[in-house]
Amino acid sequence: MNTNLNRRNWIKSSLALTAGLVATSSLTEKLMAAPVSHAEKIMLNQTSSLLNGAVRLNANENPYGPSEKAKAALLQLLSEGNRYPFAAMGEFKKLLAAKEGVAPEYIHLGAGSGELLCQTGVAFGLEGKSVMSSFPTFPMLMNYAEFMNATWQKINLNDALEHDYETMTSAITSDTKLIFVCNPNNPTGTLVDQMVVERFCEEASKKATVYADEAYLEFLEPSQQHSMVGLVKQGKNIIVSRTFSKIFGLAGLRVGYIVAHPDMIKRLAKYNDDFSISQTSLAAAKACIDDEDFMKLTRTKNAVARNVLTDYLDKKKIMYGKSVTNFVFFPAPKDGKTILTSMEQKGFLMRIWDYKNSEWCRVSIGTQDEMTRFIKAFDEIL
Ligand code: PMP
Repeated sequence: MNTNLNRRNWIKSSLALTAGLVATSSLTEKLMAAPVSHAEKIMLNQTSSLLNGAVRLNANENPYGPSEKAKAALLQLLSEGNRYPFAAMGEFKKLLAAKEGVAPEYIHLGAGSGELLCQTGVAFGLEGKSVMSSFPTFPMLMNYAEFMNATWQKINLNDALEHDYETMTSAITSDTKLIFVCNPNNPTGTLVDQMVVERFCEEASKKATVYADEAYLEFLEPSQQHSMVGLVKQGKNIIVSRTFSKIFGLAGLRVGYIVAHPDMIKRLAKYNDDFSISQTSLAAAKACIDDEDFMKLTRTKNAVARNVLTDYLDKKKIMYGKSVTNFVFFPAPKDGKTILTSMEQKGFLMRIWDYKNSEWCRVSIGTQDEMTRFIKAFDEIL
């Protein structure tokens, strides 16, 4: 990362890009407000000279990607950089439609699933009333909805740091227009029994639109992955989003998609730039979409590296969410600002979240070596 680009500008520029909107400074300020903890806001004003070369355990990135197949496809497509991606987008939609078992009209592409969360937040937010989610969760959709005109109904997690579907069910009112579910959830990494989630989605979709964010689903073994796309096929009022940023390791290339009824897609696509994805990115995504070997490699290495962190937390008797993903969430054993500053000085980036008047650490899983070095540095600051 360029040393002249301080953290504030970095977050602003990432938000502006992800938004797919012209994000003015005041818009980004507003949108930044919710996901950034108090400790992080203090840090935003400090330019760091250490971000360059730091171990990035702050954005749930895949340290093993892009795969060799994706890299080869990128190189091959370079010479077609002079062409618009009209045909490539259509072809890629068809490929995804075949994978998901739906017609291509049920697929909507985005420059990362973040762009689709923004569009949905705008579309629903403009109508006012409220959007509901468990809290904390990945806040982008709700931030945009709030910025437009809606209120965000937040339902706290249960004691195991999981979505509390019973409380969510009883909290639905006639004002609730959209319910966001994230399974596995970010920032906690926890997974709720997928049959419970499916029953919830089915029932809740009778009262409001349900948005199921499945960004981390592929961290489960293939036989364990149960997508909510089945409910879309049954005609339920559900939007499902997936991304190439996580298990496929293409976060910087920006490819994500939604599976939903074509009428819903028309509604969201009003806020969309039709050609926001480059054909190089599409080629990389196409090349790795069924690269089971690469996904397996990521899953296996991630689980080993995650154990380094959770074994350490066990040893220290620090509780944490039972993570099935590439990040772990636990109560901050010291004040957040000290943790962020000291860890940054030692060359590690991580996140602090605010929840229930306390500070919580979210540490993404890097390589085994990075995690071994991380726990040593973390232990030193404690
Ligand atoms: N959903 C969840 C749950 C996430 O954690 C993230 C990013 N960390 C996203 C969506 C957006 O990712 P992308 O835009 O890269 O697809």
